[in-house]
Amino acid sequence: NRLNNDFQFIDVARKDRTKKDARLRAKEFSEIYEPFRPQEAASQAHRCLDCGNPYCEWKCPVHNYIPNWMKLVSQGNILAAAEISHRTNTLPEVCGRVCPQERLCEGACTLNEGFGAVTIGSIEKYISETAFAMGWRPDMSKVTWTDKRVAVIGAGPAGLGCADILVRNGVKPVVFDRYPEIGGLITFGIPEFKLEKHVMQRRRAIFEEMGIEFRLNVEIGRDIQFQELLDEYDAVFMGMGTYKYMEGGFPGEDLPQVHKALDFLIDNINHNLGFNVATDEHVSMKGRRVVVLGGGDTAMDCNRTSIRQGATSVTCAYRRDEANMPGSKREVASAREEGVDFLFNRQPVAIVGEGKVEGVKLVRTRMGEPDEKGRQRAEVVPGSEEIVPADEVIIAFGFQPSEIAWFDTHDIQVDERGRVIAKEQGKLDKGKFAFQTSNEKVFAGGDMVRGSDLVVTAVFEGRQAGEGILDYLEV
Ligand code: FAD
Ligand code: SF4
Repeated sequence: NRLNNDFQFIDVARKDRTKKDARLRAKEFSEIYEPFRPQEAASQAHRCLDCGNPYCEWKCPVHNYIPNWMKLVSQGNILAAAEISHRTNTLPEVCGRVCPQERLCEGACTLNEGFGAVTIGSIEKYISETAFAMGWRPDMSKVTWTDKRVAVIGAGPAGLGCADILVRNGVKPVVFDRYPEIGGLITFGIPEFKLEKHVMQRRRAIFEEMGIEFRLNVEIGRDIQFQELLDEYDAVFMGMGTYKYMEGGFPGEDLPQVHKALDFLIDNINHNLGFNVATDEHVSMKGRRVVVLGGGDTAMDCNRTSIRQGATSVTCAYRRDEANMPGSKREVASAREEGVDFLFNRQPVAIVGEGKVEGVKLVRTRMGEPDEKGRQRAEVVPGSEEIVPADEVIIAFGFQPSEIAWFDTHDIQVDERGRVIAKEQGKLDKGKFAFQTSNEKVFAGGDMVRGSDLVVTAVFEGRQAGEGILDYLEV
């Protein structure tokens, strides 16, 4: 029996989930990977050595008990694996799909030394999907309810992580979000080819069964004032993300066919979900020559969304070389397979056109000395200008923390980059609780504390803030 073999990794190679054919997937807004079958999942999970030094657990931001669930999957005990996987992660089915595993858990797997890492992300997704299909739900039967209530602003991964910890400890979370569905950027930023929207809709039903209350289409500061939350609830958690668009600062950026990355993606998702079909403001790249500026995951999502909308061509220009791209290698490979052209070492200096976009003026760069973060600087090559023809341009240079009106009036301090100051367990100042802000009744986590990052780090901070709130409320 293969499953009795402790050295399975020698006989069984790492196998990623099968990708759908690139020509087919370039036409549809659905996930590109086929799910693992039970035998595949068991045999891939059995490749885990249980090496005794699980670096994978340490590199995983939520410190999942990875070797423990690998063993259970290899034995076919999916329900026990789901229990363990939910002990550390609020959204395992999401992280299994969208984490950049090659630089987190899988990047730290011992089997990278010559054998290929265990397919941790795919198995994490498999566990939740299979357990949900079998009817598994979080067990709330032992929860003793307190009379405490906490307001959570933002139904993104940080807010959901916080609400998960609170509700499992008998504290009622009421989650407010200005959008009509939960998930934050998981729902309204990350496109369907990475994560289909029914995943968060199912999760919302599970959270509601657990006792989390959602008040959607409610913007704090507009529909309800922040002070009202402070008056009505025992504590407030803020997981409001980072939404301030970073401009290029070059001529032509105000032409009508120049789009902000997130606005473009949100519009497309709303359109696919049927939320903005009544208005005709939907932007489509059908039949257009598109240039995407930027090299991160958001740029890849814009590239691949434009392809699926039927763009004639999609060119992605990035100012450093391919090795220095911040985006996940897996996403870059998928974009290329689907037909995106890349121009590396190109920096935009202007968007050209009379009243409408006609092209993007780029200069060549070469890689220079490392900057203060250790990344090589892009140095401009004099006299290397060129114009790439374009009908539409999407700018994906990242996000900065939003400026929130009530911070000053409520003594919530931010750092020099506008991020809310709140610290994790282990780095706390005396007398403070995890992710408590300078206002003792207010906690914060996720992108608004660490700057734009990942789903899994937002989940981690939300969960730790939940623990901090429990300590603060002495629950
Ligand atoms: P968000 O997810 O931004 O959630 C904040 C929520 O707060 C939103 O729902 C917002 O509506 C709500 N809100 C804000 N202000 C108010 C208010 N005043 N009142 C009520 N509600 C409010 N990460 C990955 O790990 N893998 C990926 O593949 C990946 N792809 C990405 C692709 C794109 C295009 C983008 C933009 C990001 C991507 N990320 C990815 C990053 C990841 O989505 C974020 O780091 C994560 O969602 C941050 O979680 P959060 O809870 O801090 O904030
Ligand atoms: Fe890996 Fe992300 Fe899952 Fe952690 S949460 S095990 S980093 S896929």
